Amino acid sequence: AHVVVAVDGPSGSGKSSTARGVARTLGLRYLDTGAQFRAMTLWMLDHDVDVADPAAVAACVAEPRIESGTDPDDPTIDLDDADVGQAVRSDDVTAAVSAVASVPEVRQRLLDLQREYIGAGGIVVEGRDIGSVVAPEAGVKVYLTADPAARAARRRAEAGEGSTTASEQDLLRRDHIDSSRVTAPLTRPDGSVHIDTTGFTLAEVVAQVVTLVKD
Ligand code: C5P
Repeated sequence: AHVVVAVDGPSGSGKSSTARGVARTLGLRYLDTGAQFRAMTLWMLDHDVDVADPAAVAACVAEPRIESGTDPDDPTIDLDDADVGQAVRSDDVTAAVSAVASVPEVRQRLLDLQREYIGAGGIVVEGRDIGSVVAPEAGVKVYLTADPAARAARRRAEAGEGSTTASEQDLLRRDHIDSSRVTAPLTRPDGSVHIDTTGFTLAEVVAQVVTLVKD
């Protein structure tokens, strides 16, 4: 079977940079599942669906066409054939995504999509439930964490200084929703290696994960 690396953890833990670095180093593809949840959320906002109403969200879950580009040097996310790589990072999407991601029908639709990508060959998959739900058979699973201050700083670097969703408070709010939801809560997957990235450089964390894959 081909190599599957599962990278889970809360936002700002260094997941994206680590997962991309590992994929690049090992010549694997890279899948950002958070971007898929964000694209689903953007579609709901664009179509005036009340994201606080799980039944309303569930009713149109099949409609958005979501496609991920898996080159770690240039990962893309398309929604209904438009490149939404920038739009999915907006504060509006970030504020709404945890609610949309807690709807079971959303998770099921994206789970099916994620498994298509995973079935197609060697890949590093980043998310919240990859090692636990999406790819429990993954050969290597890592669970990344970092101090809240370090996470907020990373999120600000990603979203811009004026972001209203990059405070420690907002990260902890999303952590709470992500870890207390009934379907696929964020937890440390069985068999995962925990890496606290706070005191390490990106290169050091990538090297640790690459070693796990090669062992
Ligand atoms: O990683 P990112 O911050 O882009 O993820 C956005 C949101 O998508 C998370 O806060 C979480 O609610 C949801 N998500 C999820 N399961 C995944 C990936 C992301 O529920 N596998």
